[in-house]
Amino acid sequence: MSLLKVERLDVRHGLLQAVRAVDLELQEGETLALVGANGAGKTTLLRAIAGAHRPAAGRVLLDGADVTTAPAYRRVRLGISLVPEGRRLFPGLTVEENLLVGGRSGRKGPWNLDAVYGLFPALRELTRRRARVISGGEQQMCAIGRALMANPRLLLLDEVSLGLAPVVVQALYETIASVGRQGTTVVLVEQDVARALGTATRVACMLEGRIVLERDAAAVSRDQIVDAYFGLRRGAAA
Ligand code: ATP
Repeated sequence: MSLLKVERLDVRHGLLQAVRAVDLELQEGETLALVGANGAGKTTLLRAIAGAHRPAAGRVLLDGADVTTAPAYRRVRLGISLVPEGRRLFPGLTVEENLLVGGRSGRKGPWNLDAVYGLFPALRELTRRRARVISGGEQQMCAIGRALMANPRLLLLDEVSLGLAPVVVQALYETIASVGRQGTTVVLVEQDVARALGTATRVACMLEGRIVLERDAAAVSRDQIVDAYFGLRRGAAA
């Protein structure tokens, strides 16, 4: 059985339909790169899977159980964790307090404070610092650590590399790959398609709210992704 199944999902922002009849299936242990241009609907789809945005139609199933109407906090308990765009840490709390908030789901598993500090040694030096005063890269580590503290089965990462220095991005991606190797299923929204493909086992491309391409990452060419990304049909008359 798939870990995640999304069936004919429609998600709206008022009159605007941001996600249109999306079907998606993920098996345990897969890492999916979800790519697409600005406004394609990637963030909205992740938020609907995480329970942060109620869909207008369709279903979200986790391990076969329908969670479409379950609130976000209950989905965290069931094993879905979102690292939102812009991190959304609690700025007045310390790094360690932010991590502990993530651990309140009560889910058992390998992730605890020690494991997160093992993954991100830089955070161990910052445990008592407030989240608002640490660097962007450190905040991103803290946001990922907070999500891992819930011991997710499905980790949703929304543009975690945005605005970070290349060396920090490289380190984050090594971490994401290692989390994937440890068996966590990952969905990765990323603007840098090449980077996302370097980590993912599968790729899905969104265009105007729809998934227009879905393949094994090893079986997809750069041209196929570019065509899907821009809605081009190569060979069609200009
Ligand atoms: P980006 O890479 O820019 O984050 P995205 O692929 O994640 O893009 P979404 O952020 O999901 O796309 O946006 C999909 C569509 O929904 C866009 O047309 C966007 O303008 C619209 N949208 C997103 N959030 C809201 C909102 N809170 N209210 C109204 N419209 C929204």
